[in-house]
Amino acid sequence: MNNKQKILVVEDEQSIINFVTAVLTVNGYDVILAKTGAQAQSLATSHCPDLVLLDLGLPDMDGVDVIRFIRGWTRLPIIVVSARTQERDKVEALDLGADDYITKPFGTSELLARIRTALRHVNTSGLASPAEASLFQTGDLCIDYDKRRITVAGNEIHLTQNEFKIVSLLSRHAGKVLTHDYIIKEIWGPGLKGDNQILRVNMANIRRKIEKNPGSPDYILTEVGVGYRMVEGEN
Ligand code: CA
Repeated sequence: MNNKQKILVVEDEQSIINFVTAVLTVNGYDVILAKTGAQAQSLATSHCPDLVLLDLGLPDMDGVDVIRFIRGWTRLPIIVVSARTQERDKVEALDLGADDYITKPFGTSELLARIRTALRHVNTSGLASPAEASLFQTGDLCIDYDKRRITVAGNEIHLTQNEFKIVSLLSRHAGKVLTHDYIIKEIWGPGLKGDNQILRVNMANIRRKIEKNPGSPDYILTEVGVGYRMVEGEN
């Protein structure tokens, strides 16, 4: 029986198709290829892939319409591949339900890391999954969610309630980018949408407390114009 994970690659640029197909095949994934948005919609329905790697610039439609279509019926992970540098496109894709994005040109290890993260999140967020982990660790940073305790290299860090909530939220989604609006809505509710200042202030304080060098963070990375990403935990 074939139990390889199946990845639907939606891409119209031959050099990228060749690169991605080679990397994924060598690393044990099955690849299904769609060169248009229409093909992508039909293959996503008929082949039940485990993940979709989606180019935003397709010949027949905008990639965001493929996201809308897929999100109409499934939470299947979608990673957007974008040549566009405009942050707005990435944010739109994420807000429509894409799980992550990767910007062209990208390397093998970055691509594989993004895919592993997206697949792991879907595997651990299912309805039947065991209770959420109570500990998170990455590098010297350790979070005990039950005790609401954070340590760095064994030293306890004192965070305000909101600072703790932000760090917890990011760590629960470690490896994934969370948009400014998403974080703000989760922490402060929908009323503050679009006001990034309060988040920036909190993040500056968090970094001052947990990072060795707040200007070059080890734990919470800035995705310029998009949001923040906590580096992956060790498990
Ligand atoms: Ca394209």
